[in-house]
Amino acid sequence: MIQYLKNIWSGLSSTFTGMRITSGHLFVKKVTIQYPDQRFPIPSNARNRLVLTPERCTGCNLCVVACPVNCILLETVRVVPDDPHQELYENGQPRKMWITRYEMDFAKCCFCGLCQAACPSDAINHTTDFEYSAYDRADLYYKYQTLTPEQAAEKERLLAEFKAKDKPAVAKKTEKAADHPVTAAPDKAATQTLTDKEPAPEA
Ligand code: SF4
Ligand code: SF4
Repeated sequence: MIQYLKNIWSGLSSTFTGMRITSGHLFVKKVTIQYPDQRFPIPSNARNRLVLTPERCTGCNLCVVACPVNCILLETVRVVPDDPHQELYENGQPRKMWITRYEMDFAKCCFCGLCQAACPSDAINHTTDFEYSAYDRADLYYKYQTLTPEQAAEKERLLAEFKAKDKPAVAKKTEKAADHPVTAAPDKAATQTLTDKEPAPEA
């Protein structure tokens, strides 16, 4: 009988202890939020989604070299002087390179920020946007170039034409350089490296 009463007391006391702890939490400040209706502020220097601003990108390739996982693909075509479509960078300088391809495989990106740090034009930047999950891996492959494939092919054709037109002038320059006493190809013997030379006789 005594054991029976003890069990009842133990059940009641543990129920009251639980109720006391639960009701105590009704009056403390909440630490959870109702995402996505409510959001925590994200610091402005957060390294989330990368975005390219094509109007600033000069096609210098530094971001590609800096990327440790090779997730950036860049292709450029030089702007020729007789291109009817000239363009200015955001800073007002004339564009020197067309960005015919700028693609990023976000599934590979490790958000290290090295591309942003390497970019001299502030063209590639991390943003605070972190909601870009996708069901299909292909949706994480971003294409940032502004030229269509047809426009890119046209730019390549213009450059090829320009080079072909410029060929005689380049050949002439090379010929002149070859005749010049300073720039002419040096005598092979004179440029022989130390390793090519006979070893010095031993004393
Ligand atoms: S953040 Fe790092 S891994 Fe991602 S694209 Fe830039 S350099 Fe590559
Ligand atoms: S480093 Fe900047 S300017 Fe150079 S190619 Fe990359 S994004 Fe463009």
